[in-house]
Amino acid sequence: MIVLDLEWNRGYDRNPLNEILQIGAVRVERPGGPVLSAFNAYIKPAVHKKFDRGASALPELRASKESPLDFPAAMEAFRAWCGEEAEFASWGGGDLDILAESCTYWGVEPLTSQAFYDFQRAFSHRLGVGQQLALWRAAEYCRVPDIFSFHNALHDALYTAIVGGWLRPEDLAPEVQNPCACAPELPAFSALPFPPQPRRRIGPFATPQQVLDARPARKPPCPLCGEAGLVIRWHFVHPRRGAPPTQYFSPFFCPEHGWFLCRLTLAQGQDGLWRGRRSVPAVTPELEREYAAALTGGAHVCRSSRGKRRRSKH
Ligand SMILES: [Zn+2]
Repeated sequence: MIVLDLEWNRGYDRNPLNEILQIGAVRVERPGGPVLSAFNAYIKPAVHKKFDRGASALPELRASKESPLDFPAAMEAFRAWCGEEAEFASWGGGDLDILAESCTYWGVEPLTSQAFYDFQRAFSHRLGVGQQLALWRAAEYCRVPDIFSFHNALHDALYTAIVGGWLRPEDLAPEVQNPCACAPELPAFSALPFPPQPRRRIGPFATPQQVLDARPARKPPCPLCGEAGLVIRWHFVHPRRGAPPTQYFSPFFCPEHGWFLCRLTLAQGQDGLWRGRRSVPAVTPELEREYAAALTGGAHVCRSSRGKRRRSKH
């Protein structure tokens, strides 16, 4: 399992990117178990001119400013270090999305994870409290000595991994890990109006998975500028009686215009093949409710196109 943490800067300008300043991670045998290796990369900021309050207070901000690494180089090193690892964890659920956002911005391949665990959510469950605790407070609770400063991505990843030792398997169970229906975590969708978007047909394919993984399904264009977004995973409501789900949702990000919602509708034809229809509807309160419901349901993590190419070579 890889436990990761990011530091980033949103800046004060109109560019909505959360610019990553540091990627820190440790590979552990199990939550709380031996640390097998560590990864740390400071990234030179290149997008925002000013640092927001959180970023200004980072103890290692100078190391980022002086780093020779840009995001694509750091991400490539991180992907190489991750290798075939399929399980990821972090404190809070936002880190993978922020990483994916930067991958879209810089046009580099994102991480693919089979399983992601939010240790913050799991820790709240462990304590039986509804509130989400700050990492330093959880470390304090677990009597972990604060030898390393917090808000350094590598240190925070290490603390998160150590605190993970207090978690029981039931704290990592899907029903705990999936956000609760009463408080789903929705991205701040763009409030910019846009013209109705044409629907795009996907397929036909032999299986629903092939439709979900298809490149055109995963690259919805920004409804304002046409820049291709990227879908990492689809969320869906579990249908009754084991039928495959037919409605899938995923947020996607345009570096210029922010977050939008993509919907993919699946149908099986008379010929037994699966076809998809991809749309980018305006985000209404009703659609937001549908998406929130899907967030509490299941998720399909898309198989990366790079993986497919590698497999189809021989
Ligand atoms: Zn755009």
